[in-house]
Amino acid sequence: TASQAELLAEVLAEIGARAAAEADRGRVADYIPELAAIDPSQFGLSVVLADGSQHSVGDAEVPFSIQSVSKVFALAIALGRLGDRLWSRVGREPSGLAFNSILQLEHEQGIPRNPFINAGAIVVTDAALAGHAPREYLGELLRFIRAAASDDDIHINDAVARSETETGHRNFALAHYMRSHGNLENAPELTLGAYFHQCAVEMTCTQLARAGRFLMGAPGMPRMVAPGRVRRINALMLTCGHYDGSGDFAYRVGLPGKSGVGGGILVIAPGRASIAVWSPGLNAQGNSKLGTEAVETLARRMGWSVFG
Ligand code: GLN
Repeated sequence: TASQAELLAEVLAEIGARAAAEADRGRVADYIPELAAIDPSQFGLSVVLADGSQHSVGDAEVPFSIQSVSKVFALAIALGRLGDRLWSRVGREPSGLAFNSILQLEHEQGIPRNPFINAGAIVVTDAALAGHAPREYLGELLRFIRAAASDDDIHINDAVARSETETGHRNFALAHYMRSHGNLENAPELTLGAYFHQCAVEMTCTQLARAGRFLMGAPGMPRMVAPGRVRRINALMLTCGHYDGSGDFAYRVGLPGKSGVGGGILVIAPGRASIAVWSPGLNAQGNSKLGTEAVETLARRMGWSVFG
């Protein structure tokens, strides 16, 4: 409605002004060398409403590395390929540990807690490969994201993928450990090649907010997966989308969200909005500091929490 758009314009202006003035912007991830040099002063936010209109503020047209936000698209593809068989290889419980933790894998026979921690996402990509070459899977992933966003100008940054391939020892350790338990079908190099390239997809906030429309469960939005699956992907985002910060994000924002170490977050207000926010500085749990604060304000002012 007109009044909702007016309120949103007011809230976005407020959020943009506050983000520009914020001194404590968190810390840019530096374990992926190619991402270490990103300017932390940047902030962008974009919202697609159920009527299809899009509203943005700040650096919403600057491409960034979506990193772990890609795990949502990979999960949608893997569920499409395997259906519920996927859940024999990866769980659906919050881990309460860092995104790259190896701790629970030993106790749990190489079955990762959920599809959004690194170990789980590596299994999801391994399953999505399902006998295909990494290049074919990545082609499918890009086709999925481009169709979801209604935008063909979305690409993989090879320098970022290469940078992570050279330094991603922790992910290699996770993959080899899971392979030793029989929970990786492909050679670790092959699965991780696909995984690092998947994480290196670049998008702007406006593109990412549009790519999230299929998770809104609203009429007229791109229908990429069945409604029952939309509901479950959202449930996983709410409970596991921010690693050991998932409970805090649910408490503060009250919406399903998936973060990435590039500083992006995709947030869904079911039936109402698809939101993408980006600011490269991270909090202690590796989630965008200003991004989290911005969607906390947005959800509160718009009355969008799923808890009323
Ligand atoms: N590519 C990153 C990694 O595997 C993704 C992590 C993240 O975004 N949290 O370490």
